Amino acid sequence: MTSAFDNAKKQLDQVTPFLGEEYARGLKLLRTPQKILSKKISIKLDNGKDKSFQAFRVQFNDARGPFKGGVRYHPNVSLDEVKALSFWMTVKCAVVGIHYGGSKGGIPVDPSTLSCGELKRLSFAYSDFVAPYIGPWQDVPAPDVNTDSQIMAWMLEAYEKKVGYQAPATFTGKPIELGGSQGRTEATGVGGVTVLKEYLKKCPTSPRLRGTRIAVQGIGNVGYWFAHFAQKEGFKVVAISDSKGGIYDPRGLDVDQVLREKEKNGRIKANITNEELLTLPVDVLVPAALENAITAQNAGRVKAKCVLEMANGPTTPEADEILAKRKIDVIPDVLANAGGVTVSYFEWAQNLSGYYWEKEEVLNKERKIMIKAFNDIYKMVNEKKVTYRQAAFILAVKRIIDAMMLRGRV
Ligand code: NAD
Repeated sequence: MTSAFDNAKKQLDQVTPFLGEEYARGLKLLRTPQKILSKKISIKLDNGKDKSFQAFRVQFNDARGPFKGGVRYHPNVSLDEVKALSFWMTVKCAVVGIHYGGSKGGIPVDPSTLSCGELKRLSFAYSDFVAPYIGPWQDVPAPDVNTDSQIMAWMLEAYEKKVGYQAPATFTGKPIELGGSQGRTEATGVGGVTVLKEYLKKCPTSPRLRGTRIAVQGIGNVGYWFAHFAQKEGFKVVAISDSKGGIYDPRGLDVDQVLREKEKNGRIKANITNEELLTLPVDVLVPAALENAITAQNAGRVKAKCVLEMANGPTTPEADEILAKRKIDVIPDVLANAGGVTVSYFEWAQNLSGYYWEKEEVLNKERKIMIKAFNDIYKMVNEKKVTYRQAAFILAVKRIIDAMMLRGRV
């Protein structure tokens, strides 16, 4: 398996020829995170024994604003992965033009093996570990894979206890009761559907919206809400999966019904594997689970006309090349799933002002930002004859290095 951070650096290399000589030093600096935090944290298990866990936080770049990025609990979390994810956060925030830098955190753990009390103690311990390095104007964590608003609530409590005052703007993705934003839960999915609609409007060869067949890998926060809103907009969601397998029906699925069944039985009534889902005869393929789903091994068999990356880093650089040669458009993660961080930014802004917005106001503001970001990138795709990913990176990397230059870091 290729290293996620190596993949991220390859993506950076690909845009280097499009930026002038004056960006060379900035590009070199952008290959290394500003700060890496790594520590063993320890909690008491329910059986009274102590257990330690490796914890990471990588603060990649803060030239455009405070560091921003989620915290992931997953057995495969590694420093390499956290570095890559923090780099992509930096790029993503610049793609949508919000004033944040990029960071990420994580613990290699399978949270399903912990009791609720153990999960709470682990989240408190993680927050304690990062407390000196986070804050509204320093670094703002949020949920990611296997972390949710409850975990943010625990982390906020631990942080506020430590600093001695209320600081809700330190975390986003909080429960509404603790200053979370209306619309944050569904924001990433809403943003993805907005981008897809814009793409389909612009591309004459793309399938028409109604009846467009979509396969979604992953039915977590991102995959579910994407599929839910896609169906509401008239798209036909024909396949969806969880980690154990997928369900496929060429006539179209009832996404909410699939989720209800998963919640009832603990799994999807699978009739295909996750690998099979990736090569189904669909118009749009939506990887919404984890990294490295589309690789050199399966990219040649992808039948979709467009890949909309709702997960972070689901396509390896080798697969990207294969898809480009086969004229399959890849709408990159740094654009497609940026709706989540956009509404996190709104949550932070609401916390700092103490004034809260209605859900429709939040989602309309989000859609406006996503449409602008798509169109900026679309313009560059046509002007420079590059892929959507290259266009997004050219635009974002230029913005980041411009900020580094203005600060005199370069
Ligand atoms: P989640 O934990 O809610 O859901 C993950 C889903 O992926 C689950 O349905 C799980 O069963 C499935 N899954 C896990 N391993 C799989 C495998 N090998 N094959 C197929 N499915 C598998 O996580 P999430 O918040 O939905 O995040 C999903 C992706 O989106 C991650 O890459 C995350 O970094 C990215 N992302 C999340 C947000 C957000 O707002 N939550 C925002 C931007 C990007």
